[in-house]
Amino acid sequence: MDFPRPKPTIHHDNYVFWEGCKQHKLMIQKCANCGKLQHPPRPMCSACNSLDKEYVEASGKGEVHSFFIGERSLHPLFPPGFNMVLVDLEEGVRIVATIVDAEPDQIDFGTKVVLDFIDEEDWSLPVFRLAE
Ligand code: ZN
Repeated sequence: MDFPRPKPTIHHDNYVFWEGCKQHKLMIQKCANCGKLQHPPRPMCSACNSLDKEYVEASGKGEVHSFFIGERSLHPLFPPGFNMVLVDLEEGVRIVATIVDAEPDQIDFGTKVVLDFIDEEDWSLPVFRLAE
């Protein structure tokens, strides 16, 4: 497919996340004060309002919490049958992504998935594959 994948807007709050993706690491923000994990990354801890944060690498294992199968294409990168999934990572946070190399009928609530990445020229997109 030669349609360029739109590049995410990378800024102060998500820089560590996207830099981690380039190294094929899914970095989850962790509050340095209370230890709560949160995703997507944001300036302040949602539990204690601390601005101090660190990051932990996710295992990459998770399961589908919810999903959407698109029947019609709205964009060349999303052909009919494309999916969008909300994955519960085993660390306890959720991430929106897509499952690659999967047919729509292979995706359901609780489907086990593993992390992978699609490499673009200067950034990488986290995606999931069906677990063995
Ligand atoms: Zn906190």
